[in-house]
Amino acid sequence: MTDTRDLDRRFVFHPFSMAQGHEQSGALMMAQSAEGCWITDDSGKRHLDSMAGLWCVNVGYGRERIADALADQARKLSYFHGFSSMATEPAAILAERVIAKAPDGFSKVFFGASGSDANDTQAKIVWYYNNARGLPNKKKIIARDRGYHGVTVLSGGLTGLPGLHAGFDLPLPMIRHVSAPHNIWTRNAEEDDAAFSARLAQELEDLILAEGPDTVAAFIAEPVMGAGGVIVPPEGYFAAMQAVLDRYDVLLIADEVICGFGRLGTWFGSERMGMKPDLMSVAKGITSGYAPLSGVLVGDKVWQVISGEGSAKYGAFGHGYTYTAHPVMAAAALANLDIVEEENLVERAGQMGDYLNDALAKAFADLPIVAETRGKGLMAAVEFARPTRDGWQKFDPGLQVAPRIVRAALQDGVISRALPNGDAVSFSPPFTVTAEEIDLVVSTVRKAAGAVCDALRA
Ligand code: PLP
Repeated sequence: MTDTRDLDRRFVFHPFSMAQGHEQSGALMMAQSAEGCWITDDSGKRHLDSMAGLWCVNVGYGRERIADALADQARKLSYFHGFSSMATEPAAILAERVIAKAPDGFSKVFFGASGSDANDTQAKIVWYYNNARGLPNKKKIIARDRGYHGVTVLSGGLTGLPGLHAGFDLPLPMIRHVSAPHNIWTRNAEEDDAAFSARLAQELEDLILAEGPDTVAAFIAEPVMGAGGVIVPPEGYFAAMQAVLDRYDVLLIADEVICGFGRLGTWFGSERMGMKPDLMSVAKGITSGYAPLSGVLVGDKVWQVISGEGSAKYGAFGHGYTYTAHPVMAAAALANLDIVEEENLVERAGQMGDYLNDALAKAFADLPIVAETRGKGLMAAVEFARPTRDGWQKFDPGLQVAPRIVRAALQDGVISRALPNGDAVSFSPPFTVTAEEIDLVVSTVRKAAGAVCDALRA
């Protein structure tokens, strides 16, 4: 029989593989099949996936309806593109459905294949917009430390995790970062939500003024940060940030790649977190990961300039991918959205999210190395740190606290995720997750964390 683990070790160039020692040890898990929230590996062992893959399998694994939609569309029209005046029916129907769900003021969708390419498209739209307006110097994009926006050359630089810049000469020179609204590592002890938000908005304003407002084009933010640590901003944060952006004619891009399509209990995270974006990026949940598809949603203000002054000045908008408007991907998205709507999964994500966040808060309250449990909707994290007389201190990265907890939980059949830049373990299960499954996730990770805590003290 073919040894697929050996093939994997020898031939697959895994993302982030050196950091995980993959070449030495081989894959921790070889996934073979999946149903609901459960993945079966090549030894027949079942794992409860509390991460919905990479924050994406919102309707759960093994949905026949999406598989059928993919197969039917592949038979009918396996591929055609959306360049110039070409179109495919599934993409047209999907665009209308996405715009109907979006907040008021959005009129167009530009399709791609990944969250990273969506954010690259955002930069080009923003630059084109300012060039068309006769503002060629207004090009800088401000992102946040710990923000995750992808890994392509532009979006990799927007990502505020230094480990993803190392060795690649990133970020590109037109990118700047401001602090994340992190309760443990950024908030001062005496600050309430209003004071914390005001200080972060002041930091943004100071940066815009230092750079020159005529050089700053856009600010990009996830409604709730995902890969940077499931960071939920304080009450009033986006209102304070938005006031600064408005003052200096800086566009707001909401990176909804995780939050979009229901994860926070609203169709878009912007709604729940009080953002009023000019542009939005979506991916992951639009197909629940059954097919690679992304979208850039363009608000009226930007669209008017692109289609007006932009077209007059530059002719065609010279940007697009082979897979823009891919009919098979769009068919998967349509079947996925049918399921989300018919099973009321957005509402369910909000309810199960409350259950998950309560369960984490209760289970981890007594563990001395827990600095915070936090989350919103079906995104949650536990932050581990060393308690000291003066507050929390990050563990030495060499101790690998979060990765050890995640590995121990995996041994016990639960998939969670260790996040960088501190020691957070995250959860983002399918919207179909049950209370019993959440209980199992929480108790398994709590047991793993307890064992690691004991080992640290020993
Ligand atoms: N933006 C956010 C908020 C993400 O979480 C991700 C991926 O995790 C991306 C962008 C990049 O998406 P992709 O991996 O599909 O390129």
